[in-house]
Amino acid sequence: SEDAEYEALTVENLIPRLGQVSAVTDRVGGDPAGWSVTEVGDGNLNLVFIVTGPDGAVIVKQALPYVRLVGDSWPLPLYRAFYEFHALTRQATRDPGSVPEIYHFDEVQALIVMEYLSPHVILRTKLIAGEQVAGLGQRLGEFCARTAFRGSELCMKSAEKKADLALFSGSVEIPAITEALIFRDPYFAAEMNHHTKGLDPVVAHLRSDVAMKEQVQHLFRTFSAKAETMCHGDLHSGSAMCTDTQTRVIDPEFVFYGPMGFDLGMLVANYLMAYFSQPAHRSADSLNAYQEWILQVIIETVDTFMAEFKALWAAERTGMLYDRSQFEDQGHSSDNARDALLDEIWSDALGFCGIEMHRRILSLAHNADFEAIDDVAIRAPLEARNLMMGRDLILRRDMVADVRRLSDIARQFN
Ligand code: ADP
Ligand code: MG
Ligand code: MG
Ligand code: MG
Repeated sequence: SEDAEYEALTVENLIPRLGQVSAVTDRVGGDPAGWSVTEVGDGNLNLVFIVTGPDGAVIVKQALPYVRLVGDSWPLPLYRAFYEFHALTRQATRDPGSVPEIYHFDEVQALIVMEYLSPHVILRTKLIAGEQVAGLGQRLGEFCARTAFRGSELCMKSAEKKADLALFSGSVEIPAITEALIFRDPYFAAEMNHHTKGLDPVVAHLRSDVAMKEQVQHLFRTFSAKAETMCHGDLHSGSAMCTDTQTRVIDPEFVFYGPMGFDLGMLVANYLMAYFSQPAHRSADSLNAYQEWILQVIIETVDTFMAEFKALWAAERTGMLYDRSQFEDQGHSSDNARDALLDEIWSDALGFCGIEMHRRILSLAHNADFEAIDDVAIRAPLEARNLMMGRDLILRRDMVADVRRLSDIARQFN
């Protein structure tokens, strides 16, 4: 119950504990004794259950007091469920329909009851299987643009933005994971690192590249200093669920106030990792077409981001930054200022993209795109391409004029 001390849910205790919660009973229906409870969590951190009854199903997600991937030797605060809940409610407002509907939040139990997305499948699973999702790039490009713009002082009242900045700055340990696993560990022999046999020469090459490591630190400072919008914080292809025609975003527990290009960069990196891993997943006759489809998704995502950001700039610039009093009200265009800002977002996004392409191969948490390739003799060279393109983006992010140039670079490294 709500008053009890925190206790982890199990398949056995979920019904006794949630069988009276109206947010659950209203949607699942019938006698709780007859509900079916299945554990589906496949993430690194949390418990996730599907509860099904005669009227429907709900998802119950509960934080664990440690990192599930590692075990109870790595404690992690339960309060992350609080931040995930607040991130979901903001994303639902800023981009309606983008995230699962929230039915119930229990802070003590670190537990969220939400809409069961069905028949949605994790995007990464679809990308490994070679399936297409219509409208994918458009949906996620809109999500990135709307959350970036509407969570910033381009749009929000300053008092409200500052209150949210303060709220989310209470989340310390979770961004610390990003800081360590993404920005630091790939670039030295950190204890939890691991990489595929055969990559040692490439890893040595990257770690000896001081110019690149300087750029990583500049990007790390950008990550830390540009607290300008509420980022999802973990927008990889395991945080999108899709049907053939619909895409939703889940799992914003890594929420933080950061740079407007962060989520876009993470997302593009995950598309690119899907791209580079394809030779191990497709037969020769379908490989090229599917890889080209992934590049089209990247183009659609970024084109949509830019177009949506411009539309919001025109229609919803209601915050203190780049205020109309400085431009339009005096008969001046703000287009140059807008385009310079978008160039900066794009450059940051490419830098974060390159770093994400490194950490998924070198740091603790790898991704199934590569991990599912059993034969290391096949996996290592594909990972090497991905690592080398990541390096290129970190070093030359200001020279990649647009997303079409980015897709050309991917073809060159492939
Ligand atoms: P974690 O924070 O541990 O990564 P996620 O929120 O990503 O947890 O959820 C883990 C898995 O549970 C997802 O990969 C997905 O398979 C399933 N899942 C989570 N939320 C939903 C949902 N709303 N509808 C359907 N399945 C979900
Ligand atoms: Mg997840
Ligand atoms: Mg998560
Ligand atoms: Mg690996």
